Amino acid sequence: MIDSPDVTQFAVSRQFETRLFIDGEFKASSDGSTFDTVNPATGEVLAYVSHASLDDVNHAVACARRAFEHGPWRRMSPKERKRVLLSFAELIERHSTELAVLESLDNGKPVRDALANDLPGTVELLRWAAEATDKIYDQVTPTSGDIVSMVIREPIGVVAAVIPWNFPLEIMAVKVGPALAAGNSLIIKPAEQTSLSLLRVASLANEAGLPPGVLNILPGFGETTGQYLGRHQDVDCLSFTGSTEVGRFFLKYAAESNLKRVFLELGGKSPVIVMDDVTDFEAVAEQVANGVLYSQGQVCSSGSRLLVHKAVKGRMLSAIERVFRRWTVGDPLAPSTRMGAMISEGHMKRVLSYVELGKKEGATLFMGGAQVLAETGGSFLEPTVFADVRNSMRIAREEIFGPVLSVIDFETVEEAIEIANDTNYGLASSLYTNDLNIAHKVSRAIRAGTVSVNCFSEGDQAVPFGGFKQSGFGGREKSLAAHDIYTQPKAIWMQLR
Ligand code: NAD
Repeated sequence: MIDSPDVTQFAVSRQFETRLFIDGEFKASSDGSTFDTVNPATGEVLAYVSHASLDDVNHAVACARRAFEHGPWRRMSPKERKRVLLSFAELIERHSTELAVLESLDNGKPVRDALANDLPGTVELLRWAAEATDKIYDQVTPTSGDIVSMVIREPIGVVAAVIPWNFPLEIMAVKVGPALAAGNSLIIKPAEQTSLSLLRVASLANEAGLPPGVLNILPGFGETTGQYLGRHQDVDCLSFTGSTEVGRFFLKYAAESNLKRVFLELGGKSPVIVMDDVTDFEAVAEQVANGVLYSQGQVCSSGSRLLVHKAVKGRMLSAIERVFRRWTVGDPLAPSTRMGAMISEGHMKRVLSYVELGKKEGATLFMGGAQVLAETGGSFLEPTVFADVRNSMRIAREEIFGPVLSVIDFETVEEAIEIANDTNYGLASSLYTNDLNIAHKVSRAIRAGTVSVNCFSEGDQAVPFGGFKQSGFGGREKSLAAHDIYTQPKAIWMQLR
């Protein structure tokens, strides 16, 4: 429970694991260097975290390689791997409150969201991948009768994952589940802002029985630790979630090193279309709020462009104003808080610079647009809405990654589709209508990995998730599609006598 004594107890106990996790053991970095991790709701330093140097990266890769080539993990029966991964999920579930508090302290997100979504989501992602371990079959191909030809999928080897700060545990789980289920060894670099929950989870991996070297956690900065992994000659696959800008680097790193497989989950500028046949504006506004205010708008699939039919624009904006005002901004550990702190002061200022830009570009600041609760030392922003936005404006084209909604109006469904698709991104989209024909037509016309009709949703672990265009590269996460990222097909031919 959110207001349980447990939340308070974990929030005040402040015992953090801050060392690197390599080969089943915690150790300080080889050169002794550390960096600070800050509570964005107060500005205070929570802990000093070990920074993985090049030597540490080399050591972790060597351990992961040894575990892959000679360790028991890959050789275990799928049923045994499933058992260990289920036990890992079970331990995370048992420590949910502690982990939710860690996530909230380190990231600034409301603890109620971490308890209700991040932790159950993490556990479900791991369980789903674990359960699939002994249910995926290989293929026998249609060849002539004197030949048996099979296609089997094998683990790739040493996988490195570089992840962002917005959902540290869930994004860890979306990669750990399928990568380890397939028998790979894995090294994860958390974002430098949020290392604490992953380091706590590392000890649970040991407790679950993951063999040494199979899962390694290397905190550090992107330009150093992240780049060392991206350029490493003995990393076979790099799975990245983060910005499109940094995603490009990994393709370059791979091209300039060993042509490792690269998988990218990137940013978005997702459209939300509201047609003129909508009647329950309050309900749609609730969904729009969830789409752009949840996690302070720091969500890759955030519905940050609202495309409204001119005929209903006024009613839609009034409903948005009423609903957005109910999203209280405040202490992430308080039960009533809907919006916590932005990840950092720097990021908050970046979002505020987009507010200034929107005004300069000629959009109308309809509500919000300012920092609040500055006296706390934290980085809090109020829900912000721009009306009269044109899709050519930078606030409509660039990922702001904050609680800022750009409202653009349109007159025909064709125009809505054109505006929706006029973007470099293609991660998600939503449509609100009561017309079945429009629902089908628009769903097929939108160039995005997810289209939600009359809801805002990424689905769940059973549904593939990923982006078109510059929102992704190399496959889909979640569902059995994720198995393809972390395995490669091998053709085996046998001549019969
Ligand atoms: P980011 O790209 O700045 O950082 C992501 C990770 O890359 C971090 O671990 C960082 O340390 C590392 N990194 C940074 N520079 C690097 C470099 N030069 N070389 C190697 N590694 C480097 O992203 P962020 O600010 O942490 O997260 C926000 C971004 O993530 C947004 O663009 C958001 O849309 C995206 N995101 C996408 C998804 C998805 O599933 N598509 C999910 C969550 C977040």
